Amino acid sequence: MSDLYDRHKAVLPEWLALYYKDPLEITHGEGRHVWDAHGKKYLDFFGGILTTMTAHALPEVTKAVSEQAGRIIHSSTLYLNRPMVELAERIAQLSGIPDARVFFTTSGTEANDTALLLATTYRRSNQILAMRNSYHGRSFSAIGITGNRGWSPTSLSPLQTLYVHGGVRTRGPFAHLSDADFIAACVEDLRDLLGHTRPPAALIAEPIQGVGGFTSPPDGLYADFRDVLQERGILWIADEVQTGWGRTGDNFWGWQAHGRSGPPDILTFAKGIGNGMSIGGVVARAEIMNCLDANSISTFGGTQITMAAGLANLTYLLEHDLQGNARRVGGLLMERLRAVGAQLPGVREVRGRGLMIGVELVRPGTDEADPDAAAAVLEAARDGGLLIGKGGGHNTSVLRIAPPLSLTVAEAEEGAAILEQALRDVQ
Ligand code: PMP
Repeated sequence: MSDLYDRHKAVLPEWLALYYKDPLEITHGEGRHVWDAHGKKYLDFFGGILTTMTAHALPEVTKAVSEQAGRIIHSSTLYLNRPMVELAERIAQLSGIPDARVFFTTSGTEANDTALLLATTYRRSNQILAMRNSYHGRSFSAIGITGNRGWSPTSLSPLQTLYVHGGVRTRGPFAHLSDADFIAACVEDLRDLLGHTRPPAALIAEPIQGVGGFTSPPDGLYADFRDVLQERGILWIADEVQTGWGRTGDNFWGWQAHGRSGPPDILTFAKGIGNGMSIGGVVARAEIMNCLDANSISTFGGTQITMAAGLANLTYLLEHDLQGNARRVGGLLMERLRAVGAQLPGVREVRGRGLMIGVELVRPGTDEADPDAAAAVLEAARDGGLLIGKGGGHNTSVLRIAPPLSLTVAEAEEGAAILEQALRDVQ
């Protein structure tokens, strides 16, 4: 164990659960690769969903950030802020939300907090519908709508939350149903729930659950939910913190897989769009965004330096069609991993979309989740030079693959080969 780990333990909270038995210190990166403090090189199949949407140390972003750092970083909301206006214009237009307004925050948690502030104020209700197995962040209100209890470190919440079926397709009482029957059962369950409660403010959902193990409902579920919500004036908040910016390949936003539902009332985003600079945000129709009872600002949400990074990163992402790349390279990677999974009894399912791929592990010959195997595969992949993530419901048995969106075919093949070896070594 490194001296740094001892110092970390002595001064940081225990609940900062680090990956790996011998935790990794990453010191630099380039493209889809990172290096540790000992100089070992890794292919990064997880950083894409954390910090780095396009590529590590992308020269365009580095240049924009350093130029802005040399110019000015000041209050983002008390004075006019050109890069913030420019990025807001682009996101408003991309969001699909009519008459959209954008508010920038510093994290996904704060973006969801703000969405809850808007929805509860707009609807004058502190009741929220959230999905089972969801993850929405770490603040007092965000944990109150996080269905995944492993990530709700306290049960106290200012919100009243009702949990809806539908986020997890692969397990649970409805798992054996066809897609159409599954959707019908979930809609019936939602109607039933709404029949016995005061009117909720909103339903918040991740189009594909991230921390929950890259589980997605059948396409169209949220469109049918939307019909039920709209009958009652309940808002729909799409948490696009993991699914936005083309990661799912087929669509720019995750909500678009639910086609006829149209854009959500409120959309939240964060993580890799700043390529490491802290950008989170909320998009909503003007009528909803402007409903707050008093002024509200953010000192650091939307600072010139984060906005400069976001603008450079978004421009690169669009100009290089990284959504198309996610579809093509993600498709190949998924195919390759499905072929590997078909040969290994410990792999229950390979699922996801674009460059958001989950590999669910079970004890061979059973349907029992295998978090020990997931932890062991993570270690073995690291030894082989590949970083991946893990997640999944109440146990952590799903390997999560979400590289920067500029992943090449050769890198996808290299990573798949390392992961295949790690899976074989562990089984
Ligand atoms: N929503 C989703 C779907 C997330 O995955 C996360 C982070 N894992 C968050 C919100 C919270 O984002 P942050 O960690 O930036 O607060």
